[in-house]
Amino acid sequence: MADRIDMDDVLNDDRRAALTGPAMALLIEADHYGVQIRVEDGRPILSGKLPPEAGETHFLQRLGECRRAVTIAADSLALGWKLEWSADGASCRVLAPARPSDYRNEISSGQRGGSGRRPASWVDTEGKPVPAGTTCRSCRGHLWWREAVRPQGWRCRACHPPTGAVPVMEVSTAEADLSAAA
Ligand SMILES: [Zn+2]
Repeated sequence: MADRIDMDDVLNDDRRAALTGPAMALLIEADHYGVQIRVEDGRPILSGKLPPEAGETHFLQRLGECRRAVTIAADSLALGWKLEWSADGASCRVLAPARPSDYRNEISSGQRGGSGRRPASWVDTEGKPVPAGTTCRSCRGHLWWREAVRPQGWRCRACHPPTGAVPVMEVSTAEADLSAAA
């Protein structure tokens, strides 16, 4: 089975293509379902529990069809690649991380910790998912949201609820959810 992707063979053009194509849309959809896709040893790992609606939309099947691109997109985000939207929201460009090794270290230490505290609102300039186990420093909540398009940063659902003006994605970082699905 050729299911492992050698990340050393992935070109920056592959990353740009993955981040601007259907794979990125699937990652946003995963966020919407409250699950996370990370890459370990060249393989995509899904954590979290998919809601029933994901079955109706054949999410896993569509994920499988884009497996390589999804893996590359998820790996790129973890490495600090960013999508930067134009002011009018009509276009976006892909920014490579300035210092990949720093991002790599930051990500791995974040995953090891697993029980971080975050302020009720922070600017999400890197498009990173909220690590599992993260709780709000103010209310200890673990439900976060941000704009589905042109995200302006993660906010605690309880401390800073969305206004309803734009579509949002929500993610739960409750550890119980994640371990139940593992
Ligand atoms: Zn809060």
